[in-house]
Amino acid sequence: MVNKNPQLPSAFPQWPEAAQTLMALMHAQGEVARLTEREQLFSSLLVSVNAVLWAFDWEARQVLYVSPAYERIFGRSAGLLLADANEWRDSVYPDDLEYAERTLAQVLEKGAVEDREYRIIDAQGQVRWLSDKCFINRNAAPGDRVVIVGLAEDITEKKHLETELQRLATTDVLTQSSNRRHFFECANREFEQARQQGTPLAFLLLDIDDFKVVNDTYGHPEGDNVLQRIAETGRATLRRGDLFGRIGGEEFAALFPGCAPDMARQVAERLQREIQRLTFSHDEAQFSITVSQGLTSLTAEDKNLDSLFARADAAMYEAKRQGKNRIVSG
Ligand code: GH3
Ligand code: MG
Ligand code: MG
Repeated sequence: MVNKNPQLPSAFPQWPEAAQTLMALMHAQGEVARLTEREQLFSSLLVSVNAVLWAFDWEARQVLYVSPAYERIFGRSAGLLLADANEWRDSVYPDDLEYAERTLAQVLEKGAVEDREYRIIDAQGQVRWLSDKCFINRNAAPGDRVVIVGLAEDITEKKHLETELQRLATTDVLTQSSNRRHFFECANREFEQARQQGTPLAFLLLDIDDFKVVNDTYGHPEGDNVLQRIAETGRATLRRGDLFGRIGGEEFAALFPGCAPDMARQVAERLQREIQRLTFSHDEAQFSITVSQGLTSLTAEDKNLDSLFARADAAMYEAKRQGKNRIVSG
């Protein structure tokens, strides 16, 4: 008698054929139940995972599979994507499309591209960040069509958190200006660039005059308000591309890339005037403040930013010595 199911042990060859058939049927049912269970488990996993699994036929430019999270994350119909792969292109944030397509094509040479991040616009018009890793399907036999499989994860929240962390790490909490570390990091980069390209660069230090008196007379919170208003004035007065930061208690610094000494002097004078025009009221009293500035420009002898800083610092102290409320160039 022939064993109808090769996986079924023919341990009972003496059994009548009907019994063998019944056994085969029960075995098959068990297999189906097991497969169904696995498929259900798999589908429920795919539904709950906040990432899109996808498979793409490279030559046919056809999406072969996309998991249920696609509709949730992209807010688009999976059916439409399966019918036309351009649906994916249409959802990519226009500025990121060239990058998204280029990095997808890279998988053909590299076998895997795991550091791919780009933005999409979802159905509500909201921008979302995706980490979309992709791999060549290794199970395909040689000569088979090239199938790329991918895992696209919504990392919008992580990106926002990263941006917020970056902001916190680089800004001064009180004035929302660059903090000392960030200012000097950016200033050093600008210094190197100016030296390499032979372009002008000006550096300025600004210190509030008699700030201790402001605190002592009107209180520390009013002093904080003065610092905030000066920072606002600094940001509003400087040009795009200039750097501005709070580098100490009541001390600010600015860097003007591409700015010749005469122009830098004009910017410093404007800043001096704008700060002097600020008025503060505390209870019935009104007051205004002045600042002292030290200004210097890049010379051929400057090998690093420290020498500019030292000159600006010396010029600022000279301004204090001469009676404050003035700009000294050094
Ligand atoms: P000078 O004209 O010579 O610069 O005198 P000054 O009083 O401005 O300078 P001094 O260095 O004697 O005092 C600086 C003051 O700045 C002392 C300090 O309490 C105050 N200060 C530093 N950081 C803060 C801050 O975050 N908030 C407030 N309100 N005050 C601050
Ligand atoms: Mg000071
Ligand atoms: Mg001061």
